[in-house]
Amino acid sequence: MSALDDKIFEEDKASYVPVFNRYKIVLDHGKGAYVWDVDGRKYLDFLGGIAVNVLGHDDPQLVEAVTQQAHKMIHCSNLYYTQAQADAAAKLVKLSGLGKAFFGNSGAEANEGAIKIARKWATAQDPEKIQIITARMSFHGRTYATLTATGQPHYQEGLGPVPGGFTYVDYNDIDELEKTMSDKTCAVMLETIQGEGGVHTPDDGYLQKVRALCDKHHALLILDEIQCGIGRTGKFFAYENYGIKPDIVTLAKGLAGGVPIGAFVVTDEVAKAFGPGDHGTTFGGNPLACAAANVVLDRVPQADFLQHVTEVGDSFKAGLENLQKKYPEYITEVRGEGLILGAQLTQPGRGIVNQALEKGVIINCTVGTVLRFIPPLIITKEQVDEVLNVLDAIFAEE
Ligand SMILES: *Cc1c(COP(=O)(O)O)cnc(C)c1O
Repeated sequence: MSALDDKIFEEDKASYVPVFNRYKIVLDHGKGAYVWDVDGRKYLDFLGGIAVNVLGHDDPQLVEAVTQQAHKMIHCSNLYYTQAQADAAAKLVKLSGLGKAFFGNSGAEANEGAIKIARKWATAQDPEKIQIITARMSFHGRTYATLTATGQPHYQEGLGPVPGGFTYVDYNDIDELEKTMSDKTCAVMLETIQGEGGVHTPDDGYLQKVRALCDKHHALLILDEIQCGIGRTGKFFAYENYGIKPDIVTLAKGLAGGVPIGAFVVTDEVAKAFGPGDHGTTFGGNPLACAAANVVLDRVPQADFLQHVTEVGDSFKAGLENLQKKYPEYITEVRGEGLILGAQLTQPGRGIVNQALEKGVIINCTVGTVLRFIPPLIITKEQVDEVLNVLDAIFAEE
């Protein structure tokens, strides 16, 4: 740790709200799948800004698009049209097969908007059709509605009263969902693959049954793909892996490769629930963010890009499964799809994350005991092998 690091740690302690349990490095710049700290140390980045830097760091095309748009116009308000926003919305509509898109600035805002439009749609039919069902261990954001949707009580502690109308079920428990639903159900909101909750994938047939129950009760299916969408599973939308379509899908994180953005995309029928004045945003979908999103929306859906994610992801998963066989006392399960992978540990993972950091690799641990890998989608097999070797060395020393 250098004097420069110490100075920044002190400044942060004196002036930043202490909500983050940060690792003691000060990052400075990046290139591809690598980042450097202020002391010039290089790290292989297998967190990608939490599933955000899908094209890696300093991608020439993304930087060029943002630079050009910054020169032209960074912001102009949603009172006017822009080419960049119209293009980004059209691309999302085409890719999703849904009807209309709306842009905000974050995942929480995307979900907040989805919840609002679902309520507006449902209560127009029946003022009591307000129930929103979400899953335990889900994560949907930090605003009041989204932290209430988040089925982990500790996110709500000390913050009450929280908005009403939310009910929780176990993810993958179709019987519990069936018992909980009624014609008063407005929407079922799920992550297609649970991210923060520990990388939990849907069981065979689960999402199809959820879709059928939503249809039966005339309720909306909202899929939160803020973490697992944008090509991460090897399909542009994770739901494409399961043969279903939601009524609303939410995106953020990787959507503009690191420039803040969020989006909800809805069917035309649901979109009609909102008219002028019913929702809005000052910054959301401004030309700078949309210029960045347009690069991601042009590149990531291409067949060879998605094929790369599938291939590298499969090889990574196989490597993690080998580690599980070698160290069954430490790893009990490997889960995930494409480049959203998790290794269930028998012990807290923070020590392993710190050891990896010392060896020049950034990884992450969620819910205390799950190593989670959500790297840039442009990582290579060689980089995957490097991370697997580092993990092997750490487990061998344990
Ligand atoms: C990160 C995340 C959110 C919240 O996104 P923010 O941009 O932090 O508000 C919501 N849902 C899921 C699944 C996420 O991973």
